Amino acid sequence: MSELLQQLIRLDTVNPPGNETAAAELLRDYLAESGVESELYARVPERANLVARLPGSGDGPSLMLLSHTDTVVADAAEWQVDPWSGELRDDEIWGRGALDMKGQVAASAVALATLAREGFEPAGDLVFTAVADEEVGEGFGLPWLCAEHPDAVRTDYALNEGAGERIELLGRPFYLCSSAEKMSSPLRLRVHGRAGHASVPGIADNALVKAVPLIEKLAAYRPELQLGPETSALVEAIAGRPLEAAEALELAREVDPSAAELLEPLLSLTLSPTMISASERRNVIPHLCEVVVDCRLLPGQAQAEVEPLLREVLGEGDYDFEWIEGRGGTRSTIESPLWDAVASFVAETEPDAALLPVSVAGFTDSHWLREAFGTVAYGFFPMRTMDPQLAARLIHSADERIAVDDLELAVRCFRHAAIEVTGSR
Ligand SMILES: [Zn+2]
Repeated sequence: MSELLQQLIRLDTVNPPGNETAAAELLRDYLAESGVESELYARVPERANLVARLPGSGDGPSLMLLSHTDTVVADAAEWQVDPWSGELRDDEIWGRGALDMKGQVAASAVALATLAREGFEPAGDLVFTAVADEEVGEGFGLPWLCAEHPDAVRTDYALNEGAGERIELLGRPFYLCSSAEKMSSPLRLRVHGRAGHASVPGIADNALVKAVPLIEKLAAYRPELQLGPETSALVEAIAGRPLEAAEALELAREVDPSAAELLEPLLSLTLSPTMISASERRNVIPHLCEVVVDCRLLPGQAQAEVEPLLREVLGEGDYDFEWIEGRGGTRSTIESPLWDAVASFVAETEPDAALLPVSVAGFTDSHWLREAFGTVAYGFFPMRTMDPQLAARLIHSADERIAVDDLELAVRCFRHAAIEVTGSR
C-alpha cells in the first residue's frame, strides 16, 4: 500500500504539463499483477486516463472509485523533504499529491486489486478511474472521457475526493461526506466614469471612487439563509431535531464555534470582492474600474435567479454586471445504497460516530459524472489520524503528507463500499 503511493509520488505529474501517462502505466502494471484489466484513454499520448474494471456478473448497480493523478506544483525550497521523494517518516508518507490525491488513487487501486485477488465477483461493475488534468481542467481528463468515452465511465455511483475528515462537534465525532458542491460563479462589475488629469479632479468622474459604494453594498449584503437537503440533514444530526436555518446558525454559534464555521457558508451564497483594477497611472483619473467578486452559489441555485437580487443590492448606477463563469453546483441525493454503505463503514469503524452530509465550496470531478450520467457521487476519503485542520493546510502547500493509518482506513472503506454497493446479495 505505502509502496504504491511512494511510487506514484516519485512520478512527477505536476499539471501543467501533467505527464499523467506515467502514473496510468504504473497503475495498469500494478493492477495486472492481480489479474485486473485496464484501459488507457488519452487525448494526447502523454496525458492518459486509466479505467480499470471488475465486470459485474449481472445487472447490479455499478460503482466507480474515482481519483486524479495530476498534482499542483511544489517549490522544493519550501519543503523539509524532496516533494517527489515519497519519503516515509513517522508513519507518514511525504510528497506532493499525498493528500490531493495520490493517496486516494493508491487506496482505490489497492482496494480493487485485493478484491480481485480474493475472487470477488460483483453483480454490477466495479470501476477504478484515475484521470488526468483535474487541477487545471483543460479537457484532457474526466469531462473529455464523459464526452468521448461515455461507456467507459458511466456508473450508477461514484466515490471521489471532497471530504471524509473526522471532526468533533458538541463533543461527538462525525465524519463528513460531500454530496453536493457550491457553484463557483465569479462576477465582474465594470464601473464607468470619465478620465481626466489627477491634478484637476473636478473635470473628471472618478470610476474608482464610484466603485467604492458598490463594493461596500456587496460586502454588507446578508443573503437569505436557506436549508437544502444536505444542510437539513446536517443540522438535524447535530441538533437532534430539525431547525430553521437562522435558528441552527444561532445555536451553532452558541455551543460550538467550529460548527458555526462549518455551517455558515453552506446556508447561503457567498460574495467576496477580491480584485480591483482602475487607472494604470498615478496622475490619470480612471474612466473605468473593474471589480471582481468571488461568488459561490448554493447547490442547485441558478445565476438567473440570483442576478436580480444582486442588482437590487447594488441599486442604480453607472456599471455593467457580468458573470465571468458558472462552474459546478451539482448535488446527489443522500438517500442511496452508497450513502448507506459509507455510513455503515463509519459505524463499524467508530460506533459513536455518525456520517454527516456537506456541500463543499470547491469544484471536483464529481460534477462531470452527475451532469453527464446522473451518477450519485460523493466525496469521501476517511481520515481519522491526521488532524483535519492540518490536512487542509497541507493541500496545495509545502510538506504535504498522509498518515499510513489513514491510507489503510481508506482501503477498508473502499472495499466495504464496493462489496455493499456492487456485491450480489
Ligand atoms: Zn484534488
